[in-house]
Formats: sequence, C-alpha cells, structure tokens
Amino acid sequence: MPRKLAAGNWKMNGLRANLAELETLEARHGDAGVDILICPPATLISACEDTPFDIGGQDCHVSESGAHTGDISAEMLADAGASYVLTGHSERRADHGETDAMVATKTQAAYDAGLIAVICIGETLAEREGGTTLTVIDTQLNGSIPEAANAENTVIAYEPVWAIGTGKVPTLEQIGEVHAHIRDRLTNRFSDGSEMRILYGGSVKGSNAAEIFSVAHVDGALVGGASLKADDFSPIITALENS
Ligand code: PEP
Repeated sequence: MPRKLAAGNWKMNGLRANLAELETLEARHGDAGVDILICPPATLISACEDTPFDIGGQDCHVSESGAHTGDISAEMLADAGASYVLTGHSERRADHGETDAMVATKTQAAYDAGLIAVICIGETLAEREGGTTLTVIDTQLNGSIPEAANAENTVIAYEPVWAIGTGKVPTLEQIGEVHAHIRDRLTNRFSDGSEMRILYGGSVKGSNAAEIFSVAHVDGALVGGASLKADDFSPIITALENS
C-alpha cells in the first residue's frame, strides 16, 4: 500500500504570523502515521525549517537559473528547504498557460533538483459534462509525467477543476472511477506504478474527508482552503490516519 499523504496548498496566502498554524498542527500531528506536506508561498519556505512536516513549493521554473525575473527554480526551492513541489496545478495551467509539455519539463527539473513532484491533473466542468473526463486524464497523464517518474519521486493529484475552491465535490463513484483509471494507467506505464501515490483534491473538508479516503486508490488529499487553519486541516489528517 502506498504511504498516505495529506498535502496542504496555501496558494498565495500566508504571512509569517500564519506559521503559528503549523505549531498547532505539530502539537496535534507531530508524530502522525501519515506523511504531511505543507506548500506555503515561497516566501515562507525557509521560515518553515523547524517544522516536522515536509515542505513544498507551489511551482518551479523549467531552468536551473537564468534571466527569468520573478521565477523560482527547483534547485532554489530545495536550497530553501523544500522536498516537494506542485507541478501543473490547474491555477498555473489556467493563469499562466502551462501546457502538459511544460508541466513535464518542470517535473523533470524537480527530479533533477532532488524534489518529489506532485503532478496535478483534472478535467474542467465542460469536459466532465461532455463525457470526456477519462480522455482528458489520459492526455494529461501521458503529457505531464516524464519517463523518469517513479513511486519515490512522483505523486499524482487528481483535482477536478470544477471542484477546486467551489464546495462542489464529485460523487464517490466519480472519484473511484478516475482513481482506478489513473492507477491502471500508472501500473501499465511504470514498473512501480502500483506504489505511486494518487491524491484527490477539490473541496476536501473535515466533513467529507473520511468518505473520500474510503474510496479505492485514494492515497490522500491535496487540500487548498481547508489547509490554511490547523482547526480545518487537522480533522482531514485524522480522517486519513483512520482510513
Ligand atoms: C487546490 O487548490 O489544490 C484545492 C484542492 O483547493 P480547495 O481544497 O480549496 O478546493
């Protein structure tokens, strides 16, 4: 069984004062039986050095260094103390025009810097309603995951775009169908694909976490809004520990 992972994506939220939330989380889950990852804004990564949790960036550039004002390389994230990085989050794909090919190149850059990549994929509402979800997932899996991926350096996050930050959650059957499909594709392509972790993301809360974690091939969650406050993230971690 892949080791479970509760990942929090703070997006463009968080000042130094908010690091107190991590202290509260540490008091409750410092010796959790699952992996806990926090992806704060890059400005806070080095300030997280004392936390027992894994720390990740939210994006990285394809290059190691160079004339790319405002960008951050995977090597810089690692140097600041990160061990993970999100790649291909739907907000990056939408706001910055990131394609599958760019996501694959960023993910390779993450591997080269020794980071674990959490590669995000998921269909839009129009794709879901048009019945093309699994085709979209296949295209994203084929295009976004480098050949060098394995269960140690890669986590897949299935995040339906229409469920992110909306309070709308797919049915358990819909989550189960996509996760089983992803597992099938990973197992066919990678020798350790059965061990590669697959997270669900999109409006996960304390109130729905346990039922989502009961679905086969859901190895954890990528959580946005509910990861900002320890009181909201803690019940999700507990549900994962109990799953
Ligand atoms: C996300 O941004 O990855 C996410 C899942 O957000 P939320 O939990 O707020 O839907």
